[in-house]
Amino acid sequence: MKTALNMVVSFHYTLKDDSGEVLDSSNGREPLSYLHGHGNIIPGLEKALEGTAAGERSQVDLRPEEAYGQPNPDLVFEASREQFPDDLQLAPGARVYADGPDGPVPFTVVRLTESGAVLDGNHPLAGKQLHFDIEIVDVRPATQEELNHGHVHGPGGADH
Ligand code: ZN
Repeated sequence: MKTALNMVVSFHYTLKDDSGEVLDSSNGREPLSYLHGHGNIIPGLEKALEGTAAGERSQVDLRPEEAYGQPNPDLVFEASREQFPDDLQLAPGARVYADGPDGPVPFTVVRLTESGAVLDGNHPLAGKQLHFDIEIVDVRPATQEELNHGHVHGPGGADH
């Protein structure tokens, strides 16, 4: 079976940046599973996997526009100390969360300032060229329930 619309694809991946540093990998974990054609994964990767079959290996190089986009400068701003819980230790690189309409929204602390901290709400991989080593593990048709939900159930997917 080949990767196409409404197929569930499971794959192992190693993600590297331009310098060859490993940013993320499924090594030692369950392969990642997603429902093809439903925007479950970044657009460039979904497009590159179209037509692949179990056992295939490929290397996928993505520009930021095909991955997490370019950083939005409007998402970098200063927040005053009073906006954080008193007991929160602020440090550069730390992840902090704000309450959003759909749950917690993550921000990265860029640096501390006299009155608070500069926060960045962009995805940590925004603006980066991404290089994936991919190994397709399994391709199967989605169940009706998975199609109704728009995501994968079972190993590597949602557990409900
Ligand atoms: Zn579901």
